[in-house]
Amino acid sequence: MAEPLFRRLALIGIGHIGSSVARIAREGGEIAAEVVASARTQKTLDRVMELGIADRVERDPGRAVAGADCVMLCAPVGTYADLAAAIAPHLAPGAILTDVGSTKQSVIRDVGPLVPEGVHFVPAHPLAGTEYSGPDSGFVSLFRDRWCLLTPPPGTDEDAVERIAELWRRCGAMIERMEPNHHDRVLAIVSHLPHLIAFTICGTADDLADESRGQVLKFAASGFRDFTRIAASDPVMWRDIFLNNREALLEMLARFLEDAQAMARAVRWGDERYIEDKVERGRKIRRSLIELRQA
Ligand code: NAP
Repeated sequence: MAEPLFRRLALIGIGHIGSSVARIAREGGEIAAEVVASARTQKTLDRVMELGIADRVERDPGRAVAGADCVMLCAPVGTYADLAAAIAPHLAPGAILTDVGSTKQSVIRDVGPLVPEGVHFVPAHPLAGTEYSGPDSGFVSLFRDRWCLLTPPPGTDEDAVERIAELWRRCGAMIERMEPNHHDRVLAIVSHLPHLIAFTICGTADDLADESRGQVLKFAASGFRDFTRIAASDPVMWRDIFLNNREALLEMLARFLEDAQAMARAVRWGDERYIEDKVERGRKIRRSLIELRQA
C-alpha cells in the first residue's frame, strides 16, 4: 500500500462529495492518515461519527483546518467566501487548500484573495455525482473513471497541483487542467443548462391542471422520468451554481432557446429533414459517450 499522501485532510462540508472522499480515505488510507470533518449542522456531524467516516468532527471550520496539510472545501459554492474568511487565520503554513465546487471563476474570485501567504490554493472539480445529498449518499467508487478538472491560477506551486492531481488519481479519477473561464463555459453546456431545463420542465408539468399532472406521473416512463432524476438534486447547491455561473449559463441558455425555436419552426412547417437530422445528431452524441465510457 502506498504511503498516505497527506497527514491530515480536513473536509469542510461532508455531504455527497465530501463523504465519498472521506470513505475513500478511510478505506484505502492512501489519501490521508487522518480525516477531520466540519459541516453546518451538528446532526450531520453526529451522523458522520456514526458512519465512522472521519476520525474527528468539528463544528467550527477554523478548528477543523488547524494542523491539516490538506483542506478541501466540499460545501455549496455560495458558502465559500464566508468559509474562506473563517478558516484563513487557521490554515497551516505550507498547507494545500483545494475544493470540489462546480463553478471555478467564482471560487477563484471568492477564495483566492483570502488565501494566506505560504498556503497553496488548487481549485478542482470532480465531474461525478448523483442526485443524492448528505453524508449517507457518498460511496467509494463515485469518482472511478470520471474526470477531475483542475483550474490552478497562474503561478500556483506545481508540487501542490501535482499532489491534488495525485489525490484524485487515488480516488480513481482522470485529470485534466483547464482555464477557469473555459471550465465554466463547458460545464454550463454539459451540466448547468441540462439541470436548468430539467427543473423547468418539472415545474411546467407541475403547473398543469391536477388531472393532467396525475397522467404525467402515471405515464412518466417515456422520457420525463429521466428529467425528474436530474431535477431531484439539492436546491441550495443548484441555486448557488446558477448564481455563480450566471454569464456562461445565460449565454448557453440563449443559444439553446434559438435552437429550440428553430426546431419549433421545423415542426410547424413539417420540415422532416431538419427534425431527423437533429435526432440523428443526438444519437451520435450518445454513441460517442458510450465509446468514451462516460455514459
Ligand atoms: P451536499 O451533499 O448537500 O453536502 C453539502 C455539505 O456542505 C453538507 O455537509 C453541509 O452541512 C455542508 N455545508 C452547507 N453549508 C455550509 C456552511 N455554511 N458551512 C459549512 N458546511 C456547510 O452537497 P454535495 O453534493 O456534496 O456538493 C458539495 C459541493 O460539491 C458543491 O460545491 C457542489 O457544487 C460540488 N459538486 C457536487 C456534485 C454533485 O453532483 N453532487 C458534483 C461535483 C461537485 P449540513 O449537512 O450540516 O447542512
